[in-house]
Amino acid sequence: MHKQHLDGLLLDIPLEDNIEYYDHGAKTNLKQWLIGIYDQYKTQKNDGLKHFSMFNSGVMTGPHKNNGKNLYFIAYKEKFGSKKRSAVAVLKTRAHEETHFLDHSGNLKYLLNDMLSNGDIQSCVKICIAYMCGQDEQIAHVGGSYAIRKRKM
Ligand SMILES: [Zn+2]
Repeated sequence: MHKQHLDGLLLDIPLEDNIEYYDHGAKTNLKQWLIGIYDQYKTQKNDGLKHFSMFNSGVMTGPHKNNGKNLYFIAYKEKFGSKKRSAVAVLKTRAHEETHFLDHSGNLKYLLNDMLSNGDIQSCVKICIAYMCGQDEQIAHVGGSYAIRKRKM
């Protein structure tokens, strides 16, 4: 086990040693960044790229296999063209992608526990229902909104 800090969700979690997480921060061209990750880890390109849209404000990709480890990466946009996104919008995207990571790596329980200990039972229930219904985007959406409320923004 090793510790991982998620800066959007303000969450510290223990991760299995075969899981690694990287926040690559703000990128101008998310598609180019994503192609770079696929090239580096020789992962099948079309599975992640076919869902990619130029309107995406953030991306979570993984697991990418490397030396027996499962690697996950996130990146997000701070600008659309020359238009700067608000701090709240960027934070929401970042926490959204972090939530995708927790979901896809089997670690959603840490976010649910954090919600419960902060008294946010509603978000916890929303995620549980979305999880049972297989609604990945709804799960990530609740995580993104939770990060804003947690910081009282
Ligand atoms: Zn998403």
